[in-house]
Amino acid sequence: MLKVYNTLSKLKETFKPIKPKAVSLYVCGVTVYDYCHIGHARVYLAFDVMVRFLRFSGFEVTYIRNITDIDDKIIKRAQERNISIQVLTEEFIQAMQQDFRALNIADPTFEPRATDYIPQMIDIIQKLLDKGYAYQGDNGDIYYDVQRYKNYGCLSHRNLAAQEAGARIEVNESKRNPLDFVLWKVAKPEEPSWAAPWGYGRPGWHIECSAMALQELGETLDIHGGGPDLKFPHHENERAQSEAANGKTFVNYWMHVGYVQQDKEKMSKSLGNFLTIRDFLKEYDAEVLRYFAIGSHYRSPVDYSLEHLTIANKAVERLYGALRSVEEMKEMAKAVKTQTKVLQIADLQFEERFKTAMADDFNTPEAIAVLFDLVRIINTLREDTSLEFQSISIENFERAIQLGFVLKKLGNLLGLLEKSPQEFFQNLRGKAIDSQKIEKLIEARNEARKIKDWAKSDKIRDELLAAGISLEDTTAGTRWHIIDN
Ligand SMILES: [Zn+2]
Repeated sequence: MLKVYNTLSKLKETFKPIKPKAVSLYVCGVTVYDYCHIGHARVYLAFDVMVRFLRFSGFEVTYIRNITDIDDKIIKRAQERNISIQVLTEEFIQAMQQDFRALNIADPTFEPRATDYIPQMIDIIQKLLDKGYAYQGDNGDIYYDVQRYKNYGCLSHRNLAAQEAGARIEVNESKRNPLDFVLWKVAKPEEPSWAAPWGYGRPGWHIECSAMALQELGETLDIHGGGPDLKFPHHENERAQSEAANGKTFVNYWMHVGYVQQDKEKMSKSLGNFLTIRDFLKEYDAEVLRYFAIGSHYRSPVDYSLEHLTIANKAVERLYGALRSVEEMKEMAKAVKTQTKVLQIADLQFEERFKTAMADDFNTPEAIAVLFDLVRIINTLREDTSLEFQSISIENFERAIQLGFVLKKLGNLLGLLEKSPQEFFQNLRGKAIDSQKIEKLIEARNEARKIKDWAKSDKIRDELLAAGISLEDTTAGTRWHIIDN
């Protein structure tokens, strides 16, 4: 039985899909005007892991993740770069897809683009006008009248009276109420526009998701999710539009991922302190970012810091280290020509614990704890298997191989351990090279050479070599470089 936390009720609820064994999932996608950052990675990695687990649990998941390809920021950026919005958005759609694939985020079932749904948006706006939920302001823009929708504010649990005076709400004389939001903006000469019954213009941001969700998944969705800052106003507004237009519950379960904080401030592009996914991948393995994202529960905020990345890096190394130990033990078994039965069967004890954790509102930290229990047992078996392994009971090999199989299977369900240990460690060598540490070791080696302690100097050289660093002694001193594989 799967339980999910619903932002609307603020409770963990038993998940009951509309159709048995099927899940309709809509996650608000990226506004494509720049490279995706760590905050995006966290949101889409969180939903990636949920989708993997839902599918593993036998649900047929229809996962819609839209692309916002028209918006104020896009128009502004295209003008700054003196290119069309099509050229700009195409560039960043491709970059986003590249980045997400590099992170091993599975493609959504369908990735609709907002500008392909203008007629559907116009239909919904017309319905809202007909039903009296929308009105045209003096400036010609169409607004949603939030006072007509009695549940406005319920999703984000906001005190709207306090909100009205808030600085984030744009005050506009054409609105009846400061909280009213725009559904359709009258065309401006320098902006793209489409024909509508109320004249040329372009849609407001929120209406696009109501239109795409309705078209692709129907009036009621099982799950609607997104980043933390979408609760208000975006999801509140989507809900108001869809429920008023269709007269049906829009979403059964609302799910929101926690913030990525940097120096305790939320990370978003507007703060200008972001780090892109592609910058990250120059330094670290993709699975380190995945581990960073899912090492905490998806609803908790996480601090993006060097300390946390180092922890994530070490953790992933430890997971792969255990897989490497299993491979070593396989080789040892071969060396003594022992016929090991390759037990590619699930160890139910671990798998059940893993499933119980994930079924509890996708508790990835608990699920990861199961992986580390496996790592500990494998490491102990490996340590017990010394050079005199002939004397070691055959069960040790078999048990390690079996646990290695379970570790990889459960890791894969989280999108971890997708590489071979060889590939991972080789990749690691080229990245995250700690040059300060290398310089220090070279210094220590030079000291050893001065006092003719060749054993020590050779030891340091070998150590560096094992880490993929080769040394060259020149008259100008010792140079180092990374060995190309
Ligand atoms: Zn949306």
